[in-house]
Amino acid sequence: MSCESEQYMSLMNKVLDQEATKQEEEALFAHLAVCDECRVHFNELKTATELLRRLTHPHLPASFTKNVLDQLPPDKRHAIRRWGSRHPVLTTVALCAVPMSLVMIGTRRQWKEKSGYALVKMSGDQT
Ligand SMILES: [Zn+2]
Repeated sequence: MSCESEQYMSLMNKVLDQEATKQEEEALFAHLAVCDECRVHFNELKTATELLRRLTHPHLPASFTKNVLDQLPPDKRHAIRRWGSRHPVLTTVALCAVPMSLVMIGTRRQWKEKSGYALVKMSGDQT
């Protein structure tokens, strides 16, 4: 980035983290209106920040549990409902583990694709 106004870099992060004052926010947006380079960079940061927010807080539809239960045979459905109402904390943890695992697998896959390799075998390690 060749824009000489380095102060705007930290200001962008402050604004995206919602920690900037009204004046700081106005100063940044005034600069973005005249600096193409910073505007492009800010939009990239904003997109990345929104993606990260979605990754760390996966939103399940309110009907998720009902949809899963509806697809089970009736006898199993009652057993799971009973178990779920007796162990609400474990049920919540189990339901959160599925989307979190998918997010972690997706993130790992993206990282592997970006870095080109994931494992480097060192010769002479085995003694
Ligand atoms: Zn700039």
